[in-house]
Amino acid sequence: MSEGFRATGGCRCNTDPVRYEYTKEPFEVHYCLCTDCTDISGGALALIAVVERDTFRITQNENKIKNFDTKETAHRKFCGDCGCHMFLEVDPFPDHVLVHVPTLDRDSEVGGEPDRWVFTDSKLELVQLPDDGLPRHPGWANSPIAS
Ligand SMILES: [Zn+2]
Ligand SMILES: [Zn+2]
Repeated sequence: MSEGFRATGGCRCNTDPVRYEYTKEPFEVHYCLCTDCTDISGGALALIAVVERDTFRITQNENKIKNFDTKETAHRKFCGDCGCHMFLEVDPFPDHVLVHVPTLDRDSEVGGEPDRWVFTDSKLELVQLPDDGLPRHPGWANSPIAS
C-alpha cells in the first residue's frame, strides 16, 4: 500500500453532489457482466473495485444516498437526485464496499487494474469482449490474488 493514496468520486449532480473517497488501493478490481450490475447501471458491463470498508467514506451529501436491493443480498447505493449508482454492499463481503469505477473522477487513480471478467454467461449478445488476455468466468470467481 502506498502512502497517501486517495481515490475520489461522486454522483452526477451539478450542485451539491454526493462525494466519496477511499484511501487504500482496492483489494481487487474486476469486470462484471451480471444482469444485476448491468441492468441497474444501464451499461453493457460494470467495472468494480472491491474496497476495504474502513478505507471508504462518504465525504459530502451522504443524506442524498438512497438504497435499492436488486437482490436480498445486494444493496445498491445511488443518488436520490441524479440517480447515479456509485457503489454497493453485498452480504457475502461484509468488510468491503464495491465501487463502480466509472463514478470515480476521471483524473482519480483507481489503485488497481482489472484482473478478470466474471458472469460472461450474462454478456449481452451485442457486446464483444476485448482480446485482453484476462481470465473469463461464466459465473462468479474469486480474484486470483484473493483466493
Ligand atoms: Zn446526484
Ligand atoms: Zn455484477
